[in-house]
Order: sequence, then structure tokens, then C-alpha cells
Amino acid sequence: MTFNPEAATGSSDASAPQRVLRHALPACVWLVIPCYNESETLEVTPQLFLDELDRLISEGMASPESRILFVNDGSSDGTWDKIWNLSTAHERVCGLSLSRNRGHQNALMAGLMAAKDHCDAAISLDVDGQDDISVMSAMLAEYASGHDIVYGVRSSRETDSWFKRTSAEAFYKLLNSMDAEVVFNHADYRLMSARALEALSTFTERNIYLRGLVPLIGFPSAQVEYQRAERTAGETHYPFRKMLGLAIDGITSLSTTPIRMVVGAGFIVTLFGLLISIWSIVMLCLGRTVAGWASLICVVALLGGMQLVSVGIIGEYVGKTYLEVKRRPRYIESERTWGG
Ligand code: UDP
Ligand code: MG
Repeated sequence: MTFNPEAATGSSDASAPQRVLRHALPACVWLVIPCYNESETLEVTPQLFLDELDRLISEGMASPESRILFVNDGSSDGTWDKIWNLSTAHERVCGLSLSRNRGHQNALMAGLMAAKDHCDAAISLDVDGQDDISVMSAMLAEYASGHDIVYGVRSSRETDSWFKRTSAEAFYKLLNSMDAEVVFNHADYRLMSARALEALSTFTERNIYLRGLVPLIGFPSAQVEYQRAERTAGETHYPFRKMLGLAIDGITSLSTTPIRMVVGAGFIVTLFGLLISIWSIVMLCLGRTVAGWASLICVVALLGGMQLVSVGIIGEYVGKTYLEVKRRPRYIESERTWGG
């Protein structure tokens, strides 16, 4: 791992600790690109990525050791053959193939973890050309000024349907209201420094939602805006059903607020039940009831709420167990004032 802190103190003592204020350029950059049944797309976009990487190298932002890593996520349409051929034709292309389809997030994680020990920074992006590659230089400029994570943020969602746009915005707001920090309008187009990748590797949970995990890492971060284009070829792998699945994964892996909501609902129902019980007792005293009605109402009204509260309390413990079994790091160190 080559993390290049530049001294800002001007200290002449080489053994003295140096503050990490900037990252040196050119950086060894790895582009990490998950691919699932993308043989059509792989006819078009790799050359664009190669040209852009060449440009970054010639501008002194990326080093000649930089690479493009295509991750084949168990495709069944000859995607891996295409990646293999690309890697033999171009020295800057490498490929990694997963044994079967594990989904976008896992494929991305596999690529990032494979890149982590070879690069100074990795940039993850879609293979379909939707993520505007010309902003990679802006990402590297932010990286150079000391940011460990640079989020690509969509400046507008004009290319999306009304439904996708509205549901995505509602989802970001819902997640943030549940104390799960996600960057608004950011998908998985982002730069991460080697130390941010190292920190990500300490999150050992199986069920991953990178958009929620990466902000938990901390370290200085920045955002760059870009226009998301239409797919160059092929079709999206995120139809509504899968988007909903990702949204549920996102909420449940980042937040236990839904459990708290059950407890809250339980208290409200109990309160309501109490009022109904008082009302039924008043009716009983006024003699406006038939035999057995008041006692029945009291039991029915109170039991529902109490059951909800009980389920919520059990849920609190299940939630705690859930967070414990993830074995997330308790903290991630950023700097020390002593060396070694
Ligand atoms: N992808 C993957 N595994 C999957 C689904 C998708 O590796 O199971 C890849 C896909 O090839 C693409 C990226 O993840 O490079 C994002 O998928 P897609 O472009 O279909 O999603 P969208 O941009 O429409 O949300
Ligand atoms: Mg895409």
C-alpha cells in the first residue's frame, strides 16, 4: 500500500511524525468496474476508460502503474471472455471473475478489496458509461488536496423516469431520517484512498450496502458533481423489484429505527386502549352496556398495545444482537502524533 503523506510542517527531522494534509500526485489509480452480463457494453466502453486513463497519466494525475479492473459477477453471456481478451490486449486492463453472480454490491467489494493493496486510490464506476468519466480528474484533484473519499453526486436526475427520480429522493430522505447517513444523489461512483479501503476492509458484515457503509468510515471527504448519462448499451439490472430489495437492505443494515417505531406504535395503541377501557367502564357504571361487554373491551383494547410493546422490546434486543454480530470496527484511527 502506498499512501503518500506530504509534510506540511517543514520539519527537517525525518523521524518526526508528519501530518497527512495532502496526497501526492501522480497516484496509482485503479478503476474498479463490476460487470454482469455486459458483453454488449464491453464492446464500447473499455476504450473510453483506457483513453481517459491515458489522459490522466499524461496530465500527471495518474501514474503509469494505474489499472482498470473489470469484475465479472458470474455472467452467463461471454462477459468474462471479453474481459480476458481485453486484459491480454491491453497491459492496463485486469480482470477478476467471481464464481457465480453475487450482486452489484458484492462484486464492487470484491474489486475494491483486490485493488486495495496495489493502488493509492480506487475509483468505482458502472461499466455502462453512465458515470461521466471526465470528472475523474476533479476527483483526483480533491484526492490531492487531502480528501480520502470523493463522492460522485448527480447534479440532476433528468435522465431518470419520474417514478425513479421521486422514489430515489424519497428513499434518501427516509434513510437520513432514520439516522443512517447517506450522501444525497450519490450512487456508487466514488474515489476511495488506500487507507479508506483499508478501513472498509475492517467492516466484516456479509450484507453490505456500500452507500451507507462508506460514510461510516469517516476521514476527510468531498463531493464532485456530474451528469449521469443514458446507458451506452444493454439494460439496467435494477428493475423495481431489485431496487426495492436494495432499499430494504439499506434500511435494515444501517438502522434499527424501524424497531423503535414498533415500540412507539405499541405505546400509542396502549394509550388508546386505556382511553377505550375508561370509556367502557364509564358506560358500565351508567348501565348502558350488556353483560360482559366492558370487560371484553378492556381486554381487547389493552392487549393489542401491550403485545406491540413487548414485541418492540424483544426487537430492541434482537437489534442489539444484530449490530453486535456485524462486528463493525468500534473506531478507525486517523492520525497519531507519534511515529512507529
Ligand atoms: N452489476 C453487477 N452484478 C449484478 C448487477 C449489476 O456487477 O448483479 C453491475 C452492472 O454490470 C453495472 C453496475 O453493476 O456495471 C450497475 O448496474 P446497472 O447499470 O444495471 O444499474 P443502474 O445503473 O441501472 O442502477
Ligand atoms: Mg448503470
